[in-house]
Amino acid sequence: MGENGWLNEYLEAEMADIAATGRLRLPRTVSAADGPRVIVDGRRIVSFCSNDYLGLAGEPSIRRAASAAVEAFGAGATASRLISGTHASHLELERRFARCLGYPAGLCFGSGYHANLGLLGALAGDDSVVYSDAANHASIIDGIRLSKAAKRIYRHRDAAHLAELLEGDRTTSRRIIVTESLFSMDGDVAPLAELAELARRYGAALLVDEAHAFGTVGDAGRGLVHELGLQKAVDAVVVTCGKALGSYGAVVVGSERLRAFLVNRSRTFIFTTGLPAPSVAATIAALDFVERGEVTRRLRANVECFGRRLRERGFRDVRVTWPIVPIVIGSEEATMVASRRLWERGLWIQGIRPPTVAPGTSRLRLTLSAGHHEVEIAALVEALVEVLGIEAAIGSAEIVD
Ligand SMILES: *Cc1c(COP(=O)(O)O)cnc(C)c1O
Repeated sequence: MGENGWLNEYLEAEMADIAATGRLRLPRTVSAADGPRVIVDGRRIVSFCSNDYLGLAGEPSIRRAASAAVEAFGAGATASRLISGTHASHLELERRFARCLGYPAGLCFGSGYHANLGLLGALAGDDSVVYSDAANHASIIDGIRLSKAAKRIYRHRDAAHLAELLEGDRTTSRRIIVTESLFSMDGDVAPLAELAELARRYGAALLVDEAHAFGTVGDAGRGLVHELGLQKAVDAVVVTCGKALGSYGAVVVGSERLRAFLVNRSRTFIFTTGLPAPSVAATIAALDFVERGEVTRRLRANVECFGRRLRERGFRDVRVTWPIVPIVIGSEEATMVASRRLWERGLWIQGIRPPTVAPGTSRLRLTLSAGHHEVEIAALVEALVEVLGIEAAIGSAEIVD
């Protein structure tokens, strides 16, 4: 096709459309990192927008574990898991996660995106109905699409609405409720005990994505399902390794039977190369940190410090409970202006716009890490006063949709 085909014309028209909506996205480039202190586009800046909640991405002992694994096994698994790409360390990682979360078994996936696609794609079919929280992550939405199941969206965290929808289609055979536990863009948590009760009452399977909750939620930092002791009610938990664990990959934990089924039916498990050894080794080393509990406590202290300092500085509308703190601005332009003004003050906080969030709810998404120093949190509070003023609502306010 080349020069004269439809492709160039199509790309040009689509990009012009994106530019016209003001939503052109260009990633900034990180060239060096020391925890949240990074050099971006040649500039020294403190990041308040990574998912490295526990500050483990730069932890020296974890880096050493990854290096040792490269030395021993090389950089890649060399094949998909079912051909010759299953290493002992994959099985160790799966057992470690299962034990840590209180489940019989686990199965690694290449990433959280793969895990949700592979789990929903295997469990649901065109005869199924999937009930999904309105704020669920794109990988869950895409998993439902891939499965060809009917989709029912219930209002964000609204168990009563979910009950209505479940009541509305009594006859369906395979029903699945799927939710995040700590929501990635709203920073609030699902009413999991209520969802578990509904799943039981209506005979639905319950899947929980703990991408942001593992390492951050619960006294032991093991996520919401573990914290509430809901292992019997929750059929599968998805944990990603690229967030609080500072590595890459994901694990689905559940029953032995579920694991065996996914090994045989999950396309994103079967048709992709196994996780690389250094990622697996880094995740296992990071799990040691989570299980000792200290990094989660340090994160919690930073979250509390941020909330306290905001109140002391005069902010009245402060809802800072978890390390994800949305500041809803509303308009896309105003959000990007606020983000730029914080950037000019040495603070990196990305603006989040549609389609990641609903139109009219553009926001700054601020994340705290165990790796932040108190002076950095203090500087953040001062910058928020200057850029937004003390009338701003900080934290998961009512999100309109
Ligand atoms: C980030 C994220 C994923 C995807 O995980 P990756 O390992 O980054 O692919 C899945 N679900 C949720 C809720 C997420 O926030």
